[in-house]
Amino acid sequence: MEHIFPSHEAHLDGPLFRNARLVLEDAAQLINCDPNVLERLKRPRKCVTVSIPVRMDDYSVKVFTGYRVQYNSTLGPYKGGIRYHQNVDLPEVVGLAALMTFKNSVLGLPLGGAKGGVAVDSSKLSRTEKQNLTRRFTSEISDLIGPTRDIPAPDVGTDPQTMAWMMDTFSQERGGYAQHAVVTGKPVEIGGSLGRNHATGLGVVYIAEKAFEKNGMNMDGSRIVVQGFGNVGSFAALFAHQRGAKIIAVSDVSGGIFNGDGLNIPELIEYAKQNKTIKGFPHATEIDNKALLELDCEALFPCALENQIDTDNAERIKAKIIVEGANGPVTNAATKILTQRGVFIAPDVVANGGGVIVSYFEWVQDIMSFFWDEEEINDRLKSIITKAFETIYRFHAEKKVDMRLAAMAVSIQRLEKAMLMRGLYPR
Ligand code: GLU
Repeated sequence: MEHIFPSHEAHLDGPLFRNARLVLEDAAQLINCDPNVLERLKRPRKCVTVSIPVRMDDYSVKVFTGYRVQYNSTLGPYKGGIRYHQNVDLPEVVGLAALMTFKNSVLGLPLGGAKGGVAVDSSKLSRTEKQNLTRRFTSEISDLIGPTRDIPAPDVGTDPQTMAWMMDTFSQERGGYAQHAVVTGKPVEIGGSLGRNHATGLGVVYIAEKAFEKNGMNMDGSRIVVQGFGNVGSFAALFAHQRGAKIIAVSDVSGGIFNGDGLNIPELIEYAKQNKTIKGFPHATEIDNKALLELDCEALFPCALENQIDTDNAERIKAKIIVEGANGPVTNAATKILTQRGVFIAPDVVANGGGVIVSYFEWVQDIMSFFWDEEEINDRLKSIITKAFETIYRFHAEKKVDMRLAAMAVSIQRLEKAMLMRGLYPR
């Protein structure tokens, strides 16, 4: 990779963040954004790196590295998930924190943007080791987070149990009083929200329905490919399957599986729960990740990691619609190629927004100590996410720009207004 930042700014030099900045600069030009606002939006406000010593099961101590990046808090408290993955580094977390800022703004939530992560392959940790890591990491960033400051949530490699440990550690360190609203994505027994666990996947399908509709297509009977079978991919596959789509291929870290007649998704979810992998699922053939992305289908849901579709494979993608369940799965250059070829892309900041929308509901419910039923949550989720989609779609149609650029433009318009109203401290 060619480096464009001086060495003391290496944290700004990751591929994900560079992509986000390219879209940001294009969008700023399009809306004639105040140059002072743009300068501020191009950088994270605070980046914290911590060392996390962890007692392992064999009694040795291993030291991991963790990060919390607080990107922008103009619209409200910082909000964004915690990722456990071996490839996590500061530039990646900066990129993800920027995306959270633009996502929360475009969705109209009263929240800023942040992200955290630990460089660790959590599948290699025992439950005790994962708990030890989570508690010490929470303690190390405990001065940064809080119900009115910065509210973490799950992301790749973390789950409701991880959030339970974070909430408990934070509460214990403050006199033992339960502070539910410090994290979202918790189990429902301790202040979690109904509907949070499946929210990102459900949001992906609400957006896919809209994308099909706008392109004069129908999800019922369509062929869909899903990359990733974690929290986002498995629920997106399930909800699309329930709406009559044929999920012809899915993948996880072990590789992909294919069945041209459509996979039985409820059975696959059961299989994956028992076997901890989709590998070996009956009535399917194996397919590698590269071939999976290039399958002939109506829609592709990339629900794994960033930079999966770039200039190397963009020309070979056959899907007519791409719904970005992951953060940053299609690069900016690939977006241009695909758009030129007539592929419709529903960008990450709206397509995977279901998670943070229901996180927002969870935070509100925790603060009120009054909880809603699941129907109300799903309905409110649908209303917020489809409204954001329609706003972006209108901008895209009027200004004749791709949906990613439209989403960024709508997002920074709101941020710009708020930043100008608040002004610059001290002046
Ligand atoms: N990690 C999710 C995301 O990337 C959810 C964030 C949240 O709920 O705060 O949007």
